[in-house]
Amino acid sequence: MRMALLGPPGAGKGTQASRICQTFDLVHLSSGDILRSEKMAGTPLGLRIRDFIDNGLLVPDHLMIELMQEKILGLAKGFVLDGYPRTLNQAQALNRMLFEVHRPLMLVLNFVVDPEVLSRRFEGRRICPECLTAYHIDSMPPKVAGFCDLDGKALIIREDDLPDVVRKRIETYQETMAPVIAFYAQLGNFKTVNTSGSFKDVTRMVLDKIRRHFEDF
Ligand code: AMP
Repeated sequence: MRMALLGPPGAGKGTQASRICQTFDLVHLSSGDILRSEKMAGTPLGLRIRDFIDNGLLVPDHLMIELMQEKILGLAKGFVLDGYPRTLNQAQALNRMLFEVHRPLMLVLNFVVDPEVLSRRFEGRRICPECLTAYHIDSMPPKVAGFCDLDGKALIIREDDLPDVVRKRIETYQETMAPVIAFYAQLGNFKTVNTSGSFKDVTRMVLDKIRRHFEDF
């Protein structure tokens, strides 16, 4: 299976992508996580992209296309893209690249979420600075409040989850994603799912949608 998840920041792409990958044995490629770990490690790429991320702006297409192309081509099995593509240029480049290697996307799942649900989700979001696992203080709390279940590190609020940056990220998403959604809707193998519900309900709905899609594929 090769699929991409589209949706605004806070729509649950990251958490659902992990679930999908566990269920169907796929690799989770989150462009945001890849960029954040470059930034935290202070690599040359990390230094170039730091200001874009911290201000909620998109990293330039040429950097993203090269970075994600390398990651995708290095995979030996199916994958779920989360946060990529984010612009029409990225979508077209991805489509060309996957077509050339005879591994086109088999499903694009578009997550939509009610605006008031989105703001509530951001307020409680926390991540582990070490392994980047995401939590929510209400809907997905860690076993011990404030600490990562996996490595015990103290959880933090992502710099780009601060309210002003979130507002900018959502605006940017709305501006740049409309043509991407139109592009995939016209290609086919495109489905929309409303992810405003609880984590459990959304997971059930998402996994059902994927199973049904691949039964008919
Ligand atoms: P995310 O965690 O997916 O919301 O991404 C966090 C930040 O990483 C975004 O606000 C952008 O600055 C950057 N980013 C992630 N994916 C992309 C992409 N496909 N294109 C450009 N910038 C991206």
